[in-house]
Amino acid sequence: MHEPLKIHTTLSRAERESLVQAILRSVGLPDAHLDLYPHELSGGQQRRVGLARILTLRPRMIILDEPTSGLDVSVQASVLKLFRSLQETFALTYLFISHDLAVVRSMCRRLAVMYLGKLVEVGETAAVFEKPRHPYTQSLLAAVPRIGSRRVTLEFTLPGEPPNPRDVPSGCRFRTRCPLAKEVCAAEEPPLRSVGGRLVACHFA
Ligand code: SF4
Repeated sequence: MHEPLKIHTTLSRAERESLVQAILRSVGLPDAHLDLYPHELSGGQQRRVGLARILTLRPRMIILDEPTSGLDVSVQASVLKLFRSLQETFALTYLFISHDLAVVRSMCRRLAVMYLGKLVEVGETAAVFEKPRHPYTQSLLAAVPRIGSRRVTLEFTLPGEPPNPRDVPSGCRFRTRCPLAKEVCAAEEPPLRSVGGRLVACHFA
């Protein structure tokens, strides 16, 4: 935590010391944690230290790549709560990358769905969950298990495996698995275009 401050600021050792302590406290870790080794911290505490290290230089934007993976659900909830409170305190913007749709729904205002390295749908999170417009987004949301639901939705179940990213299909990358694919989908790559207040890359959206 001291290292970036040494490189990027002219703070004295004592000033760095007190800043590091303040930032550790802001992520919910008491000063005693300064003397611990990584293996002495729990998974949730390690995420907090990671966040504290990022915050020392006061970034305006943080890219969080699967920040809750490997954490159990209760620790996950406390880490997400911490992200929200730090966002307010430090006026942060997050780019939040996750495969966990429940976490995405609770954390993100805007949502961008990717398939094989390309954006297929971008919009307000609530609107996308309410009415997904791209077939891939529809299949993702249909695959989310619902407590109490007896029905399994087969309408958007995807066949096969994702293609090799080094040998992507012609036209629309999703066409080999899309239940709505037509000839044009193999011939032309659909552009990301505005459809009903959001961006969708599908010829038939
Ligand atoms: S462009 Fe065609 S293959 Fe691609 S998502 Fe739309 S319907 Fe499916």
